[in-house]
Amino acid sequence: MTRSFDKSKAIYEEAVNLMPGGVNSPVRAFKAVNQAPIVMDHGKGAIITDVDGNDYIDYVLSWGPLILGHAEPNVIKAIQDVALQGTSFGASTAVENELAKKVIKRVPSVEMVRMVNSGTEATLSAIRLARGFTGRDKILKFEGSYHGHSDSLLIKAGSGVATLGLPDSPGVPMGIAQNTLTVPYNDLESVKLVFEHYGEDIAAIIVEPVAGNMGCVPPLPGFLEGLRDITTKAGTLLIFDEVMTGFRVGFNSAQGYYGVTPDLTCLGKVIGGGLPVGAFGGRRDIMEQIAPAGPVYQAGTLSGNPLAMTAGLETINHLTPESYAYFEKLGDRLEQGFREAAETYNIPHTVNRAGSMIGYFLTNEQVINFDTAKTADLDLFAEYYGLMAQEGVFLPPSQFEGVFMSTAHTEAHIDQTVAAFQKVFKQLRR
Ligand code: PMP
Repeated sequence: MTRSFDKSKAIYEEAVNLMPGGVNSPVRAFKAVNQAPIVMDHGKGAIITDVDGNDYIDYVLSWGPLILGHAEPNVIKAIQDVALQGTSFGASTAVENELAKKVIKRVPSVEMVRMVNSGTEATLSAIRLARGFTGRDKILKFEGSYHGHSDSLLIKAGSGVATLGLPDSPGVPMGIAQNTLTVPYNDLESVKLVFEHYGEDIAAIIVEPVAGNMGCVPPLPGFLEGLRDITTKAGTLLIFDEVMTGFRVGFNSAQGYYGVTPDLTCLGKVIGGGLPVGAFGGRRDIMEQIAPAGPVYQAGTLSGNPLAMTAGLETINHLTPESYAYFEKLGDRLEQGFREAAETYNIPHTVNRAGSMIGYFLTNEQVINFDTAKTADLDLFAEYYGLMAQEGVFLPPSQFEGVFMSTAHTEAHIDQTVAAFQKVFKQLRR
């Protein structure tokens, strides 16, 4: 039976006149897959349900935060209990210490941390701190990486910017843009070349230790180690943007998984357990430059919000080394099933994986950076996307985003998804 999206369509038609593009964040508009947005109603565990009553196995999980699945009972109960005490005080609360201690214990580079409200805030604050600490203006980022939408970082960005084909946004002043240098991901030679010219002017390299905003692109062997080496020699700070990978790629985040320790780390998504949270942290001597300990200013009315801190803490408390072993097992099964289905029906494909972060591309090229990611067949992806939604699988509506799993996903969910791959690829066979 064909699924109906009538209520989704009606809500979207109203929304278009209320919000730009009908949404509050661009990728939610489903533009890249040529369909009206699916409007969601509720979620439970691995399942998300839209306003028309259609159920889906959810591989978006709010773009990463819901690592325990939707409406996890312990998280919801903890939020309810805290909410009864009041939702915000604009003063310190004990739970901030608890989440800070947890982050410091689990993320190798973090000796001190500052909580903020989004990944964007975390990265823009870390960049300001790096500039304040080093007294230098330039930063280096990688093409197709997304670090939120602040001016300095919105140059050759990934995620929705890549999905919509808007490589550089209007509204970013030239004077700011020229301080952002970009090179291809995984290309250490280009980084070296840039450092030969500008090394002494570069405050920081900011990198996603596993790129997740051009699809999933893991670091090639030696890439992160090479960045560590180059930055140490040049007196430049190394910033890992672990907004996506933090508490997702491994028990000790991507830096633990790959054994490379940056100077500063940005976090978000999982550490908020589905509520708005970001954080940045790192070496004590650098973090002590942040106000009021030091002169680099950063602040927030709702930063360290008790509901958000509680949701994050409760989420992280339920993640054990076994959770990550479980993700590996599910990931293997999904990857294997995808490959077999694509091979059977001659669908171009490449699968990249780092722990539980998975990206598949509809191309036969090896994907190591944004240029190779762009070889994917985007028309085929759009067709595939609509058919998968009909089969009850909710995927990110862009080829340039990875898929996520939660502890609520089971082997039965994976097998159902693989059956959907088989059915859909059969219709799309080449
Ligand atoms: N950095 C990375 C690596 C991200 O994936 C994202 C969001 N997808 C951000 C920063 C920005 O986070 P937010 O959307 O919470 O501002």
